[in-house]
Amino acid sequence: MSFISIIIIILSFTLSGCQNRGFNRAPEKKSTTSKTVSKSTPMLKPAEKRPSVLKKTKAITKAPTKVVAQEKIVKKKSKPTLTKKVKTYCSKIDKKFLHWGWGLSQCKKTNWNHVRDSVWGDPLIWAIYGSEKEHKVTHKDTTMIFCGVHGDEITPIKFCFDIIRYLEEMDPAEFDNKLIVVAPVVSPDSFFKKRPTRTNARAVDINRNFPTKDWNKKAIKMWKTRYRSDKRRYPGKSSLSEPETLFQVNLIRRYGPDKIISIHAPLTLLDYDGPEDDVSIKKTGQGILASKLLSQMSQSASGYKIKNYPYFPGSLGNWAGKERNIPVYTLELPDSDNRKHKKYWELFQPAIEAAINKDLRHPKKIKKNKLVQRSF
Ligand SMILES: [Zn+2]
Repeated sequence: MSFISIIIIILSFTLSGCQNRGFNRAPEKKSTTSKTVSKSTPMLKPAEKRPSVLKKTKAITKAPTKVVAQEKIVKKKSKPTLTKKVKTYCSKIDKKFLHWGWGLSQCKKTNWNHVRDSVWGDPLIWAIYGSEKEHKVTHKDTTMIFCGVHGDEITPIKFCFDIIRYLEEMDPAEFDNKLIVVAPVVSPDSFFKKRPTRTNARAVDINRNFPTKDWNKKAIKMWKTRYRSDKRRYPGKSSLSEPETLFQVNLIRRYGPDKIISIHAPLTLLDYDGPEDDVSIKKTGQGILASKLLSQMSQSASGYKIKNYPYFPGSLGNWAGKERNIPVYTLELPDSDNRKHKKYWELFQPAIEAAINKDLRHPKKIKKNKLVQRSF
């Protein structure tokens, strides 16, 4: 072999080595993987192994999803079974909602309870979130919300349906330790009038018709003097004469709420009636907790004005708050302007959340549920 041919052989060997290294670089990882895989698990090709890993991952992630889904199915409320009467009523609500530019109410998607009717025969409906059955055994922190006590305050009614939509969308597990009762249209006869009114079908102001201790002595007298027989504030011939008042009283008796929120308009304030932060209440701390919630609700709504509005003979604040020591929060929206419903929901949603999440149970209620409930 000549010297030149030796050089050629050396050169070609060197070049082929470089080329091999160069070509191998890109698929190097693959080949390494395949080598590793084939070495460690010779029975599995890489392509088979990867999906199997994915399958495992899927299996792991799927399993809990299934469990959660099952739990949800168990806890999820059953599909609403509405009576013909309530269905018809829901259509009536929808029609009114469309009229006010609010879209459909989703009334038909809610599981309503109905026992009595308004003067003109509309069902007085309420919805419950949480287990009433469990509540009967161990008293759960109960929030009761009323809207449409005065039918001409229309936006508060939409506000209650916004609360219902919000509660419907919540994970049912959130209601494990609480009960929320919502009556969105307390006085339907006034709301459905062509021109909605404050008073009900018999021209009675429902919020002056509660059977307070001072009713017989003061209600009519005060109406005549202080309100100069203002038709909008007529308390009725006798207390508890109206089905819409009885409806609220019975709901309070049935569920024994730990707090009541009543939505009105247009006084632009948050009013509180109930246990005060005094010595006798300090024993339980309920008054302190209740007043903390009041501040919390105000703060969460950009410092909404808190004003101690006087209570009247026959008012809810007087009957439930003053006489029964149930914290009553009256939220007066700035107005009843139907176009501002979104704005008000955005502004006050955190206040409603704060209220339903604040446990205001009286210590006695937690221990001896039934005994305390009987005292209502
Ligand atoms: Zn009102």
